[in-house]
Amino acid sequence: MTRFDAVVIGAGLGGLTAGAILAREGRKVLVIERGNSVGGAASSYKAGELFVEGSLHVTGNPQHRRDPKHRALSRAGVLDAVQWIPAGALYEMRGGPVGAPFTLPDEFAAARDALNRRFPQASAGIARWLGDLERLAGALGTGGLDAVLALAPEYPDWHASLDDRLQALFGDDEAVKCAVAGNLSYVHDDIAALWWVPFAMVQGSFLLSGARFIQGGSQRLSSALARAVRKAGGEVLLRRVVSGVVMAGHGGSHQVTHVARDGGDPQTVEAATVIGNAAPATLASLLPADQAKLLSDSYAARAPSLSLFALTLGLSRPPREFGVSSYATQLLPDWMTTLASYAEAKTLMADEPGARMPPLAIADYTAIDSGVPSPPYVLSVVGPDRVSNWDGLDQDAYRAKRERWQQALLAHLDRSYPGLAGAVTAAAFNTAYSVQQYLGAPQGAVYGFAPLLPSSDAPYRAPRTTLPGLYLASAYAGIGGYSGVVQAAEGCAELILQDQPQG
Ligand SMILES: Cc1cc2nc3c(=O)[nH]c(=O)nc-3n(C[C@H](O)[C@H](O)[C@H](O)COP(=O)(O)OP(=O)(O)OC[C@H]3O[C@@H](n4cnc5c(N)ncnc54)[C@H](O)[C@@H]3O)c2cc1C
Repeated sequence: MTRFDAVVIGAGLGGLTAGAILAREGRKVLVIERGNSVGGAASSYKAGELFVEGSLHVTGNPQHRRDPKHRALSRAGVLDAVQWIPAGALYEMRGGPVGAPFTLPDEFAAARDALNRRFPQASAGIARWLGDLERLAGALGTGGLDAVLALAPEYPDWHASLDDRLQALFGDDEAVKCAVAGNLSYVHDDIAALWWVPFAMVQGSFLLSGARFIQGGSQRLSSALARAVRKAGGEVLLRRVVSGVVMAGHGGSHQVTHVARDGGDPQTVEAATVIGNAAPATLASLLPADQAKLLSDSYAARAPSLSLFALTLGLSRPPREFGVSSYATQLLPDWMTTLASYAEAKTLMADEPGARMPPLAIADYTAIDSGVPSPPYVLSVVGPDRVSNWDGLDQDAYRAKRERWQQALLAHLDRSYPGLAGAVTAAAFNTAYSVQQYLGAPQGAVYGFAPLLPSSDAPYRAPRTTLPGLYLASAYAGIGGYSGVVQAAEGCAELILQDQPQG
């Protein structure tokens, strides 16, 4: 049986980053991915003539030394392997209680100026909010989650929800709340349940380093990471599904079995450590019953994060010709009169399309030097969704309902950007159900565990699991999103290097 220092289950950003760092540290690494290509959510592909970016709208700039990805991607050897293209601003917020469109720059001083100019009545709250974001993001970029958590004693309101925090700062001024936090789908949808600290870390990181897109799409980063694994002597297997894992306890040799996608050709390898990039629930399904129970019980108090739908549109003319005026736009619907009402959006697709449309995060890849091929000119439209919205439908009924929602979303977009719907020549619509199917992500969760208020029975996330030798390198080991996953994966690799020093 071939023996590896580390076997990684899944070639998403987390698995690839941990694998690349360990391989470059001289460890013998095997990464096993069930999909046709590496990247997981961080993939881009062609659907007919349409270029589909699987996930990325924006991430922080890893070339800034305090971006959470900076050190991890440097250690993985890929920091300069792709071009990090400026998004120009964090977002343009439109609709809902905001009124006239408001653009939030992706830099602290400029963001402060823009917010103060637009909301002078809220200047004290704005100063406090941005000050906290700067502090938390700075700590995250310097010392990771531990450094952020160490700040707790200095904040009497540390355990507050985002709702309570924004209410204390801005009262009932929903316009300013939406202007500073209306991009909720980047983190979680329900501000009453969302802990303000993770939101502040994510939002602050964008403002600290600047918002970026990966030229040519996220696949370029994932492929660069896979090349780094291979260049350092590691292996990356595609179209192989991990079907069983047996952990041998402290210091033992663990066993990982993988099969072809039709279930045939089983092969078993030995591993000094096993790294789960797949979700903990998936890992539990691969383990013997007693080990599965230990792992599952340790995460029982954790809820999955939100899921997203992603409608990719190919247009015959550039989106700016229809009034799309920024690279990243947050389009809030009229029924959203408060930021808290964002939470209602994830259930909308349970029903047939009606008067209420979800809040949308829109990326116009033609507005920047994105490297996304055109024509058709690609617009990505993302919003909250959940797997149960699509429950109980056979394949035909699912497709028909998805088509009705696509038409409804197009009509909605057309009201804000007249003429846009008529210019659509190609479309691809991934729902929460597709995320679950394609990534094997339980509940279609895109950010790992939901970043809810901390509690003693659900301590904050970490790469270490209850099973000796099993580690997590994924959104479930830190905060979700590119930055959180990459930073958590570096933490995972570092922990393994410390736990298992090599002579
Ligand atoms: C529509 C959408 C938009 C997003 N937008 C952004 C954004 O703009 N900015 C941002 O920062 N983040 C964004 N995200 C979130 C971000 O993409 C994810 O948080 C991140 O990519 C998750 O990485 P991961 O490595 O934890 O997991 P994944 O990407 O889910 O990777 C897990 C991998 O494990 C594999 N796997 C599972 N089971 C097995 C098995 N048994 N055997 C072998 N392989 C297995 C899967 O196939 C998959 O490749 C978005 C996500 C989505 C879906």
